[in-house]
Amino acid sequence: MSTSVNINGVEFQPRLLINGEFVEASDKGTFNVFNPATGEISCKVPEATEDDTNRAVAAAKAAQPAWAALDPTKRGAYLKKLAALIREHKSTLHHLEAISMGVPVNHFFHADFGADEFDYFAQAWPHIQGQSSVNTPGYVTMTFRQPFGVVACIIPWNAPLYLFAAKAAAALITGNTVVLKSSEKAPLAVAYAAELVARAGFPPGVFNILSGHGLPSGRCLARHMDVRAISFTGSSRTGKLIQEEAAKTNLKSVTLELGGKSPAIIFDDANIEQALTDTMSSILLNAGQICVANSRVYVQKSVAPKFIEAFTKRIATIHGGNPLDPQTQMGPQADEVQYKNILSYIEEGKKSGKLAVGGKGRLDETKGYFVEPTVFLDTPEDAKIMKEEIFGPVLNINTFETEEEVVAKANDTEYGLWAAVFTNNLSRAMRMAKALESGYVSINCSSPSMGRDLPFGGYKGSGQGREGRLHSMNHFLEVKSVIIKL
Ligand code: NAD
Repeated sequence: MSTSVNINGVEFQPRLLINGEFVEASDKGTFNVFNPATGEISCKVPEATEDDTNRAVAAAKAAQPAWAALDPTKRGAYLKKLAALIREHKSTLHHLEAISMGVPVNHFFHADFGADEFDYFAQAWPHIQGQSSVNTPGYVTMTFRQPFGVVACIIPWNAPLYLFAAKAAAALITGNTVVLKSSEKAPLAVAYAAELVARAGFPPGVFNILSGHGLPSGRCLARHMDVRAISFTGSSRTGKLIQEEAAKTNLKSVTLELGGKSPAIIFDDANIEQALTDTMSSILLNAGQICVANSRVYVQKSVAPKFIEAFTKRIATIHGGNPLDPQTQMGPQADEVQYKNILSYIEEGKKSGKLAVGGKGRLDETKGYFVEPTVFLDTPEDAKIMKEEIFGPVLNINTFETEEEVVAKANDTEYGLWAAVFTNNLSRAMRMAKALESGYVSINCSSPSMGRDLPFGGYKGSGQGREGRLHSMNHFLEVKSVIIKL
């Protein structure tokens, strides 16, 4: 079996990018990446060892002072060049995401979104600003914003290119150097982006890119004494482990973007068609494998029969298809583990709620890891499928009568990432926005593609800190207070 991927006749062999050089893992170790639409191996990818990870951090540390000292317009110029290369190579990048994690090639979360991040941050350096004051008699006081040094970025598999770009671009423009580790489930597009990083001409050591599992490479980054800040997106379980490692070692600054169990709340005065379209696309996006998916839908009783009938009818017409086909609306689940996990939640759901649509996998027919969009009704609030993140195209619809009742139900979760509210009553919309325990509340819409300049992050167990545009830059900058006696 070939270790490389063939894209339109061109062979691509993923490698690690350490100190400006492409290398294999030091022990030559690799892992298999499977195409979830066929169950077949797409490619073998280097498994970064602790030694590789340490070398990447050492290279980043050595490169950081010169990178931070560079005129920020020059740092921005590297980012801009990388953005252009990502756009130029977007069909290859889309192909690689499709054959590693099954996302359809027409998915909006892809290369353009990533390139936008590099373009945005290329120009964002004037926001690196301190403050000054003469409030204290006899003194001038001021603050400087300075980079942490080496920043580690650890990303999940469900939006690899976007998260690669959003994290690294913010860290780089602020004068940090980066070691980024991709997810073991979807390393291909990021490994190809590493080739583009090299072509953009970043100085050696400034931007290092590793592939591999959480152990050893991810954990090594989390506990490394020379990593001063870490930006993590992934599951709550891993987020807690990273926090523990940071606490046990150098108390590095940690931002955690974790899971969700996001409610959509539909009042009887809402535009029901809009609510239906948005909540459905939220749970089908990325085959339900998205942190903000509206997996708990609450509909006010008077409009519930109409909403449920239309919703179940329409969602039953959606089928997973080949992610390389531009017509495909929903791809397979990312891998066998995801597939089995989702099916086990569906079996749990059958014990507690009423199965209205779907409920099956299609592994036998296609060998791909496809799960039918699945709708449960009237599941008790304390059931497992109402409490835990399923990360698949599975949702429950419950009904409610009053605002107070639905707020209590929506907030009754350890998660608090995203909540969507549909109502045409402005006062009610604002009351709901205030009452919901959620890092993000969307009114009369539900799409993570909007509001990219807003802070993004979770209440409660959905995370710690906020990322997104300027908020990410803040996370990657220390604050120094300086006082001068006159
Ligand atoms: P995961 O936690 O299994 O893995 C995420 C990353 O952490 C991977 O790169 C993995 O290799 C690494 N990792 C695993 N163990 C580690 C360890 N001990 N130390 C350091 N790194 C380690 O998550 P996943 O399955 O890849 O992603 C799905 C999760 O991500 C879902 O819970 C989803 O909600 C969440 N997510 C959140 C957001 C957000 O912005 N809040 C966005 C996308 C995904």
